[in-house]
Amino acid sequence: MRYIEPHAHMVSRVTDDYVAMATAGCAAICEPAFWAGYDRSSPKGFFDYFRQLTEHEPKRAAKFSVPHFCWLCINPKESEDVQLATEVIDLIPEFLNAPNVLGIGEIGLNKNSRNELKVLEMHVDLAARTGQLILVHTPHLEDKFKGTRLILDVLKNDRRIQPERCIIDHVEEHTVDLVLDEGFWAGMTLYPETKCTAARAVDILECYGSEKLWMNSACDWGVSVPLAVPYAALEMRRRGHATEAVDRAIFGNPLRFLSQCPKFKPAM
Ligand SMILES: [Zn+2]
Repeated sequence: MRYIEPHAHMVSRVTDDYVAMATAGCAAICEPAFWAGYDRSSPKGFFDYFRQLTEHEPKRAAKFSVPHFCWLCINPKESEDVQLATEVIDLIPEFLNAPNVLGIGEIGLNKNSRNELKVLEMHVDLAARTGQLILVHTPHLEDKFKGTRLILDVLKNDRRIQPERCIIDHVEEHTVDLVLDEGFWAGMTLYPETKCTAARAVDILECYGSEKLWMNSACDWGVSVPLAVPYAALEMRRRGHATEAVDRAIFGNPLRFLSQCPKFKPAM
């Protein structure tokens, strides 16, 4: 088996996770910038984090022969302070040429507030000005449907944005068609408690087709499973999906989306 992990927060994982993922056939790991579990006190905290994502983590991953890529932004959870967000967004351009940066993400909404929306628009503008791919985080549970609609409106209202260059992550049964119908890519996050289980994700693949969908573990410092993608592949095999269909879902699809950034090169 070979697969791409398109969304994992490796800075909060141990080296055993790299070993397990490499052993399971992981050909590349992509790490969106995220909330650290606590609010950072100044833009300097983000500057150091961006260095960790662009300099330190790729070296750590290379020790396990896994190419490491990342996305940069200030996450929606820390976007309530628009002044802080402005200062952090100003730091991003100097990192965009780093060899492992794929684009702007994971941007989006957390509580669907006015300030979060403003910061989302600032990120979308930065991505449009600099020609970057976009990875979007959608809110949790009861805020997800409304948040997804608000996010799609922001992206559609900016004429510079091409939907096929944006992935809307953490979709569930009630948001996946909104996203795909507008020509965007959709990501499904495999979590043991919230978000999708492997069985639900494979149901969605079966119902909505597998053209513009990918699966990820979004493993971080909380309850999450770094091997969730290969486990979902096992679920596909158990249901009788052909080897090629499994390969397309866990390798071919993320490869197609991510290769829109010429820097993306998985270990083949
Ligand atoms: Zn994430």
